[in-house]
Amino acid sequence: MSFLYKADPVRGAEWARLFAEQAPDIPFHCWPDYGAAEQVRYLAAWLPPENLASQFPNVEVVFSVGAGIDQFDFSLLPPDIPVVRMIEPGIAVGMVEYVTHAVLAIHRQSHLYARLQREQRWQEHPIKPAASCRIGVLGLGVMGQSVLSKLRDFGFPCAGWSRSAHALDGVDCYAGEDALPAFLARSDILICLLPLTQHTRGILNRKLFNALPAGAAVINVGRGGHLDEAALLEALASGQLSSATLDVCEIEPLPAGHPFWEHPNIVLTPHIASMTQPASAVEVVLDNIRRHQSGQPLIGLVDRSLGY
Ligand code: NDP
Repeated sequence: MSFLYKADPVRGAEWARLFAEQAPDIPFHCWPDYGAAEQVRYLAAWLPPENLASQFPNVEVVFSVGAGIDQFDFSLLPPDIPVVRMIEPGIAVGMVEYVTHAVLAIHRQSHLYARLQREQRWQEHPIKPAASCRIGVLGLGVMGQSVLSKLRDFGFPCAGWSRSAHALDGVDCYAGEDALPAFLARSDILICLLPLTQHTRGILNRKLFNALPAGAAVINVGRGGHLDEAALLEALASGQLSSATLDVCEIEPLPAGHPFWEHPNIVLTPHIASMTQPASAVEVVLDNIRRHQSGQPLIGLVDRSLGY
């Protein structure tokens, strides 16, 4: 029985060290060195090998090294193999930091003051109370809930939207398509933390932007496929949106010459909002392996019918 890691090799070396320390009984291999293919029972990957079923016929569980699994082509994975996404505390910590920073930068007008400094202008603007800046989070999963529990403490009125109903302390929860317009109408800063599925692709579109209060700001930390890029440029040009903070893009890296690079009201980061932390990731993967071996339910099991 062995474990195969197929993702960033630098982080793979860290995984190898942690496995040797914490699970010396499980032989660990880092792609492209996979040892005896028929021995591989567990695979952790960003992109599984295309011929997984024929090359590794005895794989029992596939782990995504990221929180999302939209990069997986499920048609290449045998239907009976459980797919587990990464739920580990390190990813949530990074996401909370990124989104809190982005929200506070918008709320405290960091970009305006950076411009005023460049223009050598000492000019003050009123400070608005947090209570006047309504936050809306699309997606009330592990990431959405972690982010909301921090933002709530600043005094921002917080709401979240999900597929099924939730009840969260200090957060107005909306669920389903019918509730979306009311949720959007009260969101001055909208944060996308949805998984990318056939239902959520292109959700950040013209209709959605028009349903937000005029001058709203959008933060996309979900996936590039959530955003209709042309609709965003249009909404920024008309003033319907005041700014966009984008950590993810449809094509990554963003191509040279793309209008987002130099847009004065777009803040771009190269998909770094959060990253899986090897120490906590290995802990949860080993816990899941033990669960699998003793027939207990896996944590983070993907529902293939829902796509997340
Ligand atoms: P979860 O699976 O825990 O949560 C997903 C949430 O989205 C759930 O609340 C779910 O609703 C909701 N949802 C899914 N489909 C719909 C729909 N059609 N309509 C309304 N709500 C829907 O995921 P995580 O919170 O762990 O991660 C969310 C996403 O964040 C990831 O898939 C990834 O794309 C992105 N991400 C980005 C990172 C980055 O660095 N930029 C890092 C980590 C994650 P319900 O609760 O009802 O099931």
